[in-house]
Amino acid sequence: APPFGKSMELFRRAAEVIPCGIYGHQSPAAALPGASPYYAERASGSRYWDVDGREYIDFMCGYGPIVLGYGHPEVEEAAARQRKDGDTMNHPSARMVELAERLVDMVDFSAWCVFGKNGGDMTSWAIRVAREQTRKKKILRVAGAYHGIDPWCSHTPGGLIEEDRSQIHTFKWNDLESFNQLIRRHVGKVAGVVVTPFHHPSFGDCEMPDNDFLQVIERTCHDEGIVLILDDIRAGFRLHLGGSHRVFGIKPDIICFSKALGNGYPISAALGSKELRVPASRVFLTGSFWNSAAPMAASLKTLEILERDDVPAKLNALGLRLKDGLVALGEKYGRPIVASGPPATPFYRFADETNFRDWQQFCAIAMEGRNGLAAFFHPHHNWFLSATHSEKDIDQALEIADQAFVTMNELPR
Ligand code: PMP
Repeated sequence: APPFGKSMELFRRAAEVIPCGIYGHQSPAAALPGASPYYAERASGSRYWDVDGREYIDFMCGYGPIVLGYGHPEVEEAAARQRKDGDTMNHPSARMVELAERLVDMVDFSAWCVFGKNGGDMTSWAIRVAREQTRKKKILRVAGAYHGIDPWCSHTPGGLIEEDRSQIHTFKWNDLESFNQLIRRHVGKVAGVVVTPFHHPSFGDCEMPDNDFLQVIERTCHDEGIVLILDDIRAGFRLHLGGSHRVFGIKPDIICFSKALGNGYPISAALGSKELRVPASRVFLTGSFWNSAAPMAASLKTLEILERDDVPAKLNALGLRLKDGLVALGEKYGRPIVASGPPATPFYRFADETNFRDWQQFCAIAMEGRNGLAAFFHPHHNWFLSATHSEKDIDQALEIADQAFVTMNELPR
């Protein structure tokens, strides 16, 4: 068994004082119990260390926020300087204005920008803006897509009442007929449509948008006066610095960002078209820490570096190296691997199973690693790369993967 003794001990303590011990998407209940660390000690660059002292080449980047590498020196310096001057104060700082200006410059259709802390702050606020603008009730969203924890989109039914979802309707990704049916059935009643740029469910392959899927949705929203909301929280700034809609050739009315925006600092943003400025001003938006300046300073520096170093191109190149390597290993060991999604935010599984049983095993072995170095391969969520990952990191991870195949083939089946 892998030596995750300290993780286990912390988890046992947590289970006494924290519901579920670890709740949410990092819950150990979702993976092979005991097959991965539960608690992190520290992180730097492309590596992190668990509480048992094991070092990992990381492929989750904190589930997305870390786009330049953990503890990026320039970002840390910008944040530290701001913290010294003041972080949470009575008023916003000039950083807020500078960051809004910068983002509005970067995102082609946008005329304004607001900030929150988490992705879900923005998606939930955006649907209220759509309702305020249209004075209609219904929101259409894609089945299986993740937008946050609020009642309209939460993935589990705990604490929900029927009315929470009575105006929320789901259609299927890449199924225009299911979308059109909803539009026909609820004609004149739809306030907003929420989509991600590509479909990235947990426990399932990523699906890129078919031919004209997003285009037809865009056109319908335009024709019917429906607000189109792009949830770019996961992919944002990894595919295109102007928003992922630029990759897929559409223009939403609102775009939501978080994760990579602050390289780990808590910040999210929603940007919208000039037509939505007035309704946006009417939907109340605030929080105890939402004006804090250090994350905004971190964001400004992060965006500067993303642009300066053309990070999306770099992530794509690194992602392709990883993908080519993993796919080749799958071939070599007669266990083909399916890769889906953009190389910068890929999803992997074995081609011949959909229950992730062996893939969980494979990832668990990679997380055990060899010679004191492991690779953090997530068994059922898309992975993330950062700009600080090197070709050598990828190659080392591929060596760990190669060894994991050997080990797996030696296990009794
Ligand atoms: N939308 C998408 C596409 C996401 O991936 C996430 C986070 N995984 C969210 C919304 C919610 O963001 P947060 O967890 O920061 O509230």
